Amino acid sequence: MSLKHRLLAAAYHPLRIGNILHHQVSGQSSGRLRVLLYHGISPQEEEHFAAQLRWLSRSWRFINLPQFTAMLAGKENVTEDSLLLTFDDGFTSNRRIVENVLNPMKIQALFFVISNFVDLSEKGEWRSFVTQNIFPGMKSKDVPAHWQNMTWDDLSYLLETGHSIGGHTTNHARLSQVASTELVAEIIGGADVLEKRLGVEVDHFAYTFGDLHSFSPAALEVARSRFKYVYTGLRGDNARGVNSWAIRRDAMAATNSFSLMGALLEGGADRLYANSRAEYDSWSRLVCPT
Ligand SMILES: [Zn+2]
Repeated sequence: MSLKHRLLAAAYHPLRIGNILHHQVSGQSSGRLRVLLYHGISPQEEEHFAAQLRWLSRSWRFINLPQFTAMLAGKENVTEDSLLLTFDDGFTSNRRIVENVLNPMKIQALFFVISNFVDLSEKGEWRSFVTQNIFPGMKSKDVPAHWQNMTWDDLSYLLETGHSIGGHTTNHARLSQVASTELVAEIIGGADVLEKRLGVEVDHFAYTFGDLHSFSPAALEVARSRFKYVYTGLRGDNARGVNSWAIRRDAMAATNSFSLMGALLEGGADRLYANSRAEYDSWSRLVCPT
């Protein structure tokens, strides 16, 4: 664990107690609304991941996608601290996690999928896709087996068992570096393919890479023209006044300790993202004047 993560983990209990006291003193009746972001989970990590969800369930309630969108729109009150679970990229381990962990625990998640990644069937093709598009610079031999792509059948299984699929571009391009003429094909084209192949509406979109420098006002404008909900990788609480094109998410790893996860969800790193959130929200106002 890095020093920053160790310090954060050590701060979990003070952060939690501080937030409980603040909640009582301020008289706020509503809870928090946060979104977890995972990627692939190895077979060795699966047990700890399940334990993470059980531990989180002690103080947070896992909600499904309709509940999340109702809360975001203010149509449903956030009466308890609530969590939506999301996964990015469409790795094959996601299906295993659904079968072994999420379905038995009755937790429904949202999976953001790269349309061209699903189409790979040749042996080894997926490793090149991962090193060229998802983790640029990584060596092919270092790509673990659980980062293989899910198939269309896997995605259908996810949908059949109550989970949701969102768009995550066509090729996992870094949108801030894509020519404006290509943005539509990358952002909208990928989701259109998912809709057609899966026969469901795809109203949710997550930026690739997740940090502010990987997207742009032009990308937001294209995303906003097609999707009701746009997810960033910027940490923060969505409970009060976050618009549906600026959804904050908390990246997590299946190896994270309970204390580190707890500290992140208590907002221990939120301040580090304050400038990025403010800048992104200013784009929202620019692109989507209200
Ligand atoms: Zn991604």
